[in-house]
Amino acid sequence: MAEPRRYVVGLALEGRPVLVVGAGTPAIGHVAALRDAGARVTVVATEAVAAIADLADRGIVAWRHRGYSPADLAGARLVVAASGDAALDARVADDAEDQGLLCVTADAPSADGLVDAPGRAGEVVLVGGGPGDPGLLTVAGLEALRAADVVVCDRLAPLAALTGLRPGAEVVDVAKIPRGEFTAQERINDILVEHARAGRRVVRLKGGDNFVFGRGGEELQACAAAGVATRVIPGISSALAGPALGGIPVTHRGLNQGFTVVSGHVPPDDERCTIDYAHLARAGTDLVLLMAVANLPAIAEALVAGGMPADTPAAMVADASLPSQHVVRATLTTLAEAAAVAGLRAPAITVVGAVAAFDPLV
Ligand code: SAH
Repeated sequence: MAEPRRYVVGLALEGRPVLVVGAGTPAIGHVAALRDAGARVTVVATEAVAAIADLADRGIVAWRHRGYSPADLAGARLVVAASGDAALDARVADDAEDQGLLCVTADAPSADGLVDAPGRAGEVVLVGGGPGDPGLLTVAGLEALRAADVVVCDRLAPLAALTGLRPGAEVVDVAKIPRGEFTAQERINDILVEHARAGRRVVRLKGGDNFVFGRGGEELQACAAAGVATRVIPGISSALAGPALGGIPVTHRGLNQGFTVVSGHVPPDDERCTIDYAHLARAGTDLVLLMAVANLPAIAEALVAGGMPADTPAAMVADASLPSQHVVRATLTTLAEAAAVAGLRAPAITVVGAVAAFDPLV
């Protein structure tokens, strides 16, 4: 008998409890899409891929570190069976049915793995995913994702877009968590090259733009060295999207004639730091800082020492484009404390300069 047709519903899940069984790659897109929809997500799984562990660590989803039991269904409005194990997913669906709950079953990885096309030339497409909301992925980026055999993604990529992949497409999570789990770039380069050499269409999906602190250049070099064809689909960098979504125009006539984007992941007094903060303090452009949450006090000190007034407007935009987006405005020397009090954490964009106090009503 033919499979019955499925009915696709646009469920409003804001504030509703949803249980996701599984925290491996089949669950990533679902967990992210549910988060984007404002659902209260609980994940039950003994192990989680880095992207999901990161969401749990940041308190965005709850994670029960253990195997599934039918008691987990209590209180849920919807259940997503995404364990990657077809038998377990079927059991979850049956239990949900018994309790009168709707259950969505995620595509399990196909049993025979990837179907290789040795005759076909594989390629690697570097896709910039924008700041996190899948709506800010470009049309070309979305088309590349839908055509992909393999998607190699990071935690800041628009992970909800992974629900739109071809059935059987493989997701590889190479998320790098600051000061925690780490996948060497060389290993990522190898993964890209190996899959492309097997004739697969590989998408390297990153947050923002792959060439803005995204190591896209290194991946292009690795592919070129291996003779693998590449394409680049630019994305909206959080350096631009973060301020914009936080209500801050990075340029505004009369306030500035430019802006400088820098990474603050190395403190100013560190010998690896190549940025001349004293020069930036007097450069006359506003500053957009990435990866600068931890080092903000030291950076503010260096800018003040270089002559920037302590009361220069400054703002921080965390989780730009996501439901957890949070903006704090203060001054150069008060922002780090104000952001910490408000509970802001990475990923966040910091803007320093007159535009950080922009008020559309003034
Ligand atoms: N390639 C990315 C940047 C990677 S570096 C891009 O073009 O956006 C990682 C840093 O990007 C984070 O530490 C943070 O400073 C910034 N970032 C990425 N996504 C963000 C978001 N949604 N909101 C705020 N900052 C973000």
